[in-house]
Amino acid sequence: AKGAGRDRFALFDPAMYAGIMREAEERAEVERALARDEFLVHYQPIVDLPTSRLIGVEALVRWEHPVRGLLGPNTFIPLAESTGLIVPLGRWVLRQACEQLARWRDEFPAAAGIRVNINLSARQFQHEGLVEEVAGILAETGVDPRQIVLEITESLLMQDTDSTIETLGRLKALGVRLAIDDFGTGYSSLSYLKRFPVDILKIDRSFVDGITTERGDATLAEAVVQLGRALQLQTVAEGIETAEQWSTLQSLGCEFGQGYLFARPGAAEAISSILGDARV
Ligand code: C2E
Ligand code: CA
Ligand code: CA
Ligand code: CA
Repeated sequence: AKGAGRDRFALFDPAMYAGIMREAEERAEVERALARDEFLVHYQPIVDLPTSRLIGVEALVRWEHPVRGLLGPNTFIPLAESTGLIVPLGRWVLRQACEQLARWRDEFPAAAGIRVNINLSARQFQHEGLVEEVAGILAETGVDPRQIVLEITESLLMQDTDSTIETLGRLKALGVRLAIDDFGTGYSSLSYLKRFPVDILKIDRSFVDGITTERGDATLAEAVVQLGRALQLQTVAEGIETAEQWSTLQSLGCEFGQGYLFARPGAAEAISSILGDARV
């Protein structure tokens, strides 16, 4: 009983304290990494499924950690989200990707029509200055806004507030395109698709995974493709790893795809060599 009493009135919880300290340290580390330019952007090809020709790339952030090596976004994006650091980090990714697109465009005729997809997190989307920042980066880098695709998640659209609709409309007015990422994972009502000015649906990797083995996954993937067609949206399948998945998606009528079968995300130079080889 004595022990319980002591617990109840404990003002100092060492475990909680350690947790708070760790979070503060991690936050400071991400801030330092931004200042020291330790982040980099990898690019994964997006291809036209029938021909496997490159039609664009998705920008995916990485952290070149001085001690832990190259880190994927799953190790730091959640922290960046919860601390708000995703706003400056996301702005940095956007600028990098646009600058890279401008270099490709200047160097390779084949880059004239490619698109660069950039992920926007919910926190970034809700950040007040977002639209002005996107407009500013487009103007500074001189890229054609039609070559930029902003990927947003379904859960963001499910919030369906006036300000969501307003922000989407203002982004569209800049000339960029909008894609719904991880489509099909949000259990949402589909009615928002009619209201929101989106252009592209990305079929989540979890459906592509089971497309040749699980009937339910194939049915869902097919439903997304047909929905896309009915609403005149493009469909992009993500996470294509096998030739069977590739051909199944084609037979379902999916236009575009990305995945390890075609290429893993890599440095900008890997895309440059594809663009250099391409005949135009
Ligand atoms: P995502 O947007 O769904 O990106 C696709 C993820 O699938 C990437 O993981 C990519 O490397 C991986 N992938 C691509 N093809 C295949 C495949 O064939 N098989 C498998 N198993 N995986 C494949 P990555 O780069 O680790 O990124 C993870 C997530 O981190 C992204 O998921 C995205 O939600 C987030 N993320 C990445 N970069 C950014 C960014 O700049 N800003 C924000 N807000 N989020 C980002
Ligand atoms: Ca994405
Ligand atoms: Ca995705
Ligand atoms: Ca996904």
